[in-house]
Amino acid sequence: MARLVVVSNRVGLPKSGARAGGLEVAIRPALKKRGGVWFGWNGRIAEGDPGPAQTLRKDNVEYVTVDLRKDDYEEFYNGFANRVLWPILHYRLDLAEFSRRDLSGYLRVNEYFASGLAQILRDDDIVWVHDYHLMPLARALRERGYKNRIGFFLHIPCPPPEILTSLPNHDRLVSALGAYDVLGFQTETDALNLGRYFSNECRFKRLDDETFLIDGRAVRVSVFPVGVETETFARLARRAVDTAFVRDVLDSLSGRAMIIGVDRLDYSKGIPERMNAFERFLGQFPDWRGKVTYLQITPRSRSSIPEYADIGRVVGETVGHINGAYGEASWTPVRYINKAHSRTALAGLYRAARVGLVTPLRDGMNLVAKEYVAAQNPDDPGVLVLSRFAGAAQECAAALLVNPYDPEGVAIAINKALAMPLAERQERQAHNFRVLRQNDLGRWAERFLAALEVPPEPQLAPV
Ligand code: UDP
Repeated sequence: MARLVVVSNRVGLPKSGARAGGLEVAIRPALKKRGGVWFGWNGRIAEGDPGPAQTLRKDNVEYVTVDLRKDDYEEFYNGFANRVLWPILHYRLDLAEFSRRDLSGYLRVNEYFASGLAQILRDDDIVWVHDYHLMPLARALRERGYKNRIGFFLHIPCPPPEILTSLPNHDRLVSALGAYDVLGFQTETDALNLGRYFSNECRFKRLDDETFLIDGRAVRVSVFPVGVETETFARLARRAVDTAFVRDVLDSLSGRAMIIGVDRLDYSKGIPERMNAFERFLGQFPDWRGKVTYLQITPRSRSSIPEYADIGRVVGETVGHINGAYGEASWTPVRYINKAHSRTALAGLYRAARVGLVTPLRDGMNLVAKEYVAAQNPDDPGVLVLSRFAGAAQECAAALLVNPYDPEGVAIAINKALAMPLAERQERQAHNFRVLRQNDLGRWAERFLAALEVPPEPQLAPV
C-alpha cells in the first residue's frame, strides 16, 4: 500500500489543545487508521525566517510541520483564504476583500508548502490535499516534476461559475485544480458547479460524467460527502448524557425543553437570522414562553477579521434584545456562550436537547447536524431542524428542512419539532441515522482513497 501524505493548512498536532474544527475532526481518524504523514502549518508565527520543518512521530502518524512568517499569516491566511476565498465560495460576494498583495501571499505560501513537501515526498506516495487554502498546491508540485497521484477535497461549498468568475484571477486559481487527479466535493451541486466551470471557462474536454481530460491526464470530479464516526459518537453520547456537566445543565433548565445550536461564530452559519427566527417563534407561539430554553454555543473564530467582529456584535445585541423583550426573572429564553466545549460535553447536550437547530446560510457539510443525529436516543429522539443550504441536508432528508432566509418558516419548524409526536420523531430519526451509519467517516476516507489510488481507465472518445 502506498504511503499516504495528508496536507492541510493547519495540522492537528496531538494534544495541542487547539479546538477542533470540522476539517481536523474529519482527517485525524482517517489518518490514524491508515498511518502516514500529515504536513502543514503548526500554528506558530516565526520571528524571522521560518526554520526547517519539524517532525513529530506519534503512533503511526508522522507530523511534519512548518512555521509561517507574520506576513504569510496576514496575506495568505487572514487575507486571501479567509477574506476572499471563504466568502466567495460561501456565495458572499458582498463580503470579499480582494487585494493583489494577499493573492501573492497566497501563491507564495502554496510554493512554500510545495518546496517543504518536495523534501519529504517519495515516488510512490499518494498525496491528499485538503481545502481552499491549498488550491494551487498540486500545480506547484507538478512544476517541481512531481508525477504521483494527488487528490484534493474541498470541505466548503463550490459555487456556480457565475460566482466563481467574480474571483479576481479565477482563471489562474480555479483552473489550477486541473493539476490534481481526483477532486472531491461534499455534494452533487458542488461537483456539478466545478464541472460547469471546467467546461465553460477552461474548455477542458469532458470524458464522461465525472471525468475531464486535462494536460493528457484523466481528472475525476466526484462527490464524497464527509461523515462522522456515527456509532462511536452515539456511544459517546449515551455515556455523556449522564455526566455531572450535562446533569447540571439539565437541572438548571428546571424541566424546560432545550433547543441547541453549536457553531463557530461565522457569518456563514446564519446565527443572527436564527435568533430572529427564535424571536418570531416566541411571538407566534406564546404557549412555549417559559417552557423552552435555546442554548447557543458559539466559540469565537478568526476574531482579527472585521467581518467576524461585526457578526459577534450583532449576535450579542440580538440575544440581549430577545432576553430583554421576552425574559422573566425566572427564565432566560436564550443562553449564549462563546466558550468552546469538548466533544463529550457536546454529545451529551445534543442527546439532551429536544431540538437541534442548524440553519447555516451556506455550509459545505455541517458536522454538527450529523453529530446531533448520531447522538439521539432512538426511543425518544429529538428533532433536527436543518437548513436546506447545508451539505448535510442531502443525507439528513428526514430532518425538518428549512430556508434560513425565511424566519417565519423556521419559527413554524421549531414549533413543529417541539410538538412532534413520538412515532414521527422515531421514524425521522431512524431514517437519518441509517443513512449516517452507512456513510460514516471511515467510508468517506475509504472511498476517496480508493478513487485516488486507482487511476481511471483511459477513455478513447471524448464526448
Ligand atoms: N466543535 C467542538 N467544540 C465546540 C464547537 C464545535 O468540538 O465548542 C466541533 C463540532 O463538534 C464539529 C466541529 O467542531 O465536529 C465543527 O464542524 P462543522 O462542520 O459543523 O463546522 P466548521 O466549524 O467546520 O465550519
